[in-house]
Amino acid sequence: MREMILCKLGEVVLKGLNRRSFEMRLMANIRRRTQHCGKFNVYSKQSTIYVEPTGDNCNLEGAYAACRQIFGIITVARALPCEKSKEAIFETARTYLKDALVRAHSFKVETRRADKSFPMGSIQVSQWVGGELHDAFPHLTVDVHQPELTVFVEIREDAAYVHAPAEPAAGGLPLGMSGSAVSLLSGGIDSPVASYMIAKRGVTLEMIHFFSPPYTSEQAKEKVLELAKLLTPWCGRLNVYIIPFTEIQEAIRTGCPEDHFTLIMRRFMMRLAQKLADTLRCKALVTGENLGQVASQTMEALRVSEDVVNVPVLRPLIGMDKEEIIRIARQIGTFDTSILPYEDCGTVFTPRHPKTKPHVEEVREMEAALDVEGLMQRAWDGRELVKVRF
Ligand code: ATP
Ligand code: MG
Repeated sequence: MREMILCKLGEVVLKGLNRRSFEMRLMANIRRRTQHCGKFNVYSKQSTIYVEPTGDNCNLEGAYAACRQIFGIITVARALPCEKSKEAIFETARTYLKDALVRAHSFKVETRRADKSFPMGSIQVSQWVGGELHDAFPHLTVDVHQPELTVFVEIREDAAYVHAPAEPAAGGLPLGMSGSAVSLLSGGIDSPVASYMIAKRGVTLEMIHFFSPPYTSEQAKEKVLELAKLLTPWCGRLNVYIIPFTEIQEAIRTGCPEDHFTLIMRRFMMRLAQKLADTLRCKALVTGENLGQVASQTMEALRVSEDVVNVPVLRPLIGMDKEEIIRIARQIGTFDTSILPYEDCGTVFTPRHPKTKPHVEEVREMEAALDVEGLMQRAWDGRELVKVRF
């Protein structure tokens, strides 16, 4: 029998009647994400999803790494199935976990018996296999409370499975379970983290990015596409809609008071993001905004930017400290790219004294000087779609 991967479901198991659809979605996601590692059988039993290679040319290592980044899975373990007899279980543990057993000083065996027809009880199996392993590796002591190594044995209908402790995986809910949203992706640290956090709640993302050539460079755009690429192991394949923003920014600069530049610019971003959401039938917008981080992220400013949309704006970072955000950015692998020093359109034409307590009515009046419809339409018509694949 071949080594395989056992994925434990997280919150999915709490979802009662929806549970089956959660599992189906998760299994479809696993199949898609392990495709490049060869052909695997993916099936579920007793809140575990089995990912089983169908041939010797499957890349189990790669599939294991992929499973650790699939939302909806709480832990993953590599396991070796064997015949359901105590001798086979011992022999499998002895050879399969040999390195770990040699390295450890103390151990225990923990058995779960899902197949109630198996002639021994779980404690008996643990004791017997533990005793044999102790004889085979005499340097080990048995420690049932805090062992360095726990050898897991699961006796199920089709086979017994032996594995070392599982490793934590991504958690969250399976992608696609919670609908889709448009995420405003800049080149900064925050928006990739915000995207990751919303995807983790089961939301499929469509990305939108605004760029302002020649004020922002081609490298700045490449950087955003690179960030999208780094997000794909978590978020799946991503479509990035790139919207030319130069004309809008120039119009704001000539037509509106300087202290309101950023606020009005953000309103255009929100409008265009909503237009994309409506077109793609997405139900929300996602931003990396964070209360008090910059002038445009006061409560008054958030009100002004929200004023122009009628879908929920999800801001998962709203109450986090920068340190926490950076920790996640490092963990998901976007940090090093985010800090590359290219201009973003948000840093072009920054006011010297940005308004921190704007009034919605005043901002609406200022905008009346602009041809909002025409500017929106031309930006929209100039959009470019880049498909970023894993
Ligand atoms: P980030 O680190 O994500 O760039 P920030 O702290 O620099 O965020 P702002 O520049 O004020 O904050 O942007 C707030 C949010 O607006 C961003 O998190 C992002 O969601 C969105 N945003 C800003 N600039 C762009 C852009 N050029 N294209 C798309 N979305 C943007
Ligand atoms: Mg930014």
